[in-house]
Amino acid sequence: MQWLSRLFHRAASAPQSAPAIVLFTNTLTHKKETFVPLRSGTALMYTCGPTVYGQQHIGNLRPGFVADLIARTLEGAGYRVKRVINITDVGHMVGDTEEGEDKIALGAAREQRTPEEISAHYAKLFIDDLADLNIDTKSIHFPRATEYIKEQIALAKTLEDKGYAYRIKEGLYFDVSKFPGYGKLGGISEAKLEAGARVGLVRGKHNAADFVLWRAAKPNDLQQWDSPWGRGNPGWHIECSAMSRSLLGTEIDIHTGGEDLAMIHHNDEIAQSEAASSRPFVRYWLHNAFLTMAGEKVSKSLGNVVYMSDITAKGYHPLALRYLFLQAHYRTPLSFSWESLSSAAAALDRLWKISAAVAEESDKKGQLSTANAHFLAAMRDDLNTPQALGILWEALKSEDYTPEEKWALIETADAHLGLMLTEPPQRAPSALEAVPKELEALLEKREAARVARDFTEADRIRDEIAAQGYRIEDRPTGAVLTKTTL
Ligand code: AMP
Ligand code: ZN
Repeated sequence: MQWLSRLFHRAASAPQSAPAIVLFTNTLTHKKETFVPLRSGTALMYTCGPTVYGQQHIGNLRPGFVADLIARTLEGAGYRVKRVINITDVGHMVGDTEEGEDKIALGAAREQRTPEEISAHYAKLFIDDLADLNIDTKSIHFPRATEYIKEQIALAKTLEDKGYAYRIKEGLYFDVSKFPGYGKLGGISEAKLEAGARVGLVRGKHNAADFVLWRAAKPNDLQQWDSPWGRGNPGWHIECSAMSRSLLGTEIDIHTGGEDLAMIHHNDEIAQSEAASSRPFVRYWLHNAFLTMAGEKVSKSLGNVVYMSDITAKGYHPLALRYLFLQAHYRTPLSFSWESLSSAAAALDRLWKISAAVAEESDKKGQLSTANAHFLAAMRDDLNTPQALGILWEALKSEDYTPEEKWALIETADAHLGLMLTEPPQRAPSALEAVPKELEALLEKREAARVARDFTEADRIRDEIAAQGYRIEDRPTGAVLTKTTL
């Protein structure tokens, strides 16, 4: 029997087949490139997450969705993916300028809560929204900036020791003229950088594009820590460099975020990380275009925001939004309207019904086909989701494929698109559901407890409501209940 155990041993240790080829458009080179990771078989990915001073709108969810698509596609191609999305819970200035009001402090004042309470509350809402989009949030590390103050100080200190930083009254600044190639991401010209929002606001800066690593505390700052430069708080950019390095290593494979971050935030991250380590920071930069509404980007400052809770309150399944996201390529702007969401919900409903019928006809036995290969090719070609959806629809409606071939395609599509096709939910994606009366009464009791500042009681009621499958969302217009759907 020894030969048998030797055979098993050999099979277990035999090299696994090499991952399939995946192409991504790299903002660094403006080209579509074959993905080659640092360590074979593993992809290290960092995504810039939100500042948690308020509820995130559906535009803010697009970067999380795109990172999920990247992870699913790489996993489908045979990679193991290690993921981080940071949570910015240190207050930075409104508009990310160097002067003005601190966003977290504003949120805390608005709701009469501490910065910690504000950020914990909105970070949870953000992560719940991602989970509603069928993103496996358990497999993602969500580090908080306040948990990495020591690491941010250490990185800033390294930069100072290596001669890349200088002190002025306002704090410690990075000197971009010391870092050759500053602004290489997105081919940003010096002129464009000069035109950036932060130009000239702080006296004593050596160059217009120099940015703060450590900000000296102002007397009323709610969040401040000790540092070699006195009491203060870290700059925004340093948190991503420090957390990426602490959790994934000095050099990583993929860094993602909204396209607005490329010009300043990501160029600053590159400068800090590469100056400190003398190594390349990121191999592939991927940026998503914006979600728009009536031709304008969805943004809090424009006041045209829609939240996931608005979508569920209107009775849509959150996956209707995921379907809508999938209809556009991640590098093109995506226009949101309630009509387009309705069409997405209707299409998803049909897809769930077809999938349920194919499950029955095939007895959930799959057989690979050319449609399956075409679907994979579309996804692996820079995440071409509109094309992949087209292939899926065409094959499912065609009589050229057997139920078994259709089932295999549904399984592949499900793994990549995350639309719950193999286990469609019982409910339709757009059926309106009324909130039960008893829960509305509980919500009122919780509001009364909050007004009386009895937060223990308020939290107890929140948990009671959560146990019945609903969550509370605090809106400027008052609290509402939304169903936790998945
Ligand atoms: P912010 O809280 O504004 O820093 O945004 C958090 C993340 O959401 C960043 O990666 C932004 O680039 C991204 N983002 C903000 N607004 C939109 C939008 N309308 N569409 C897509 N992504 C957005
Ligand atoms: Zn970042």
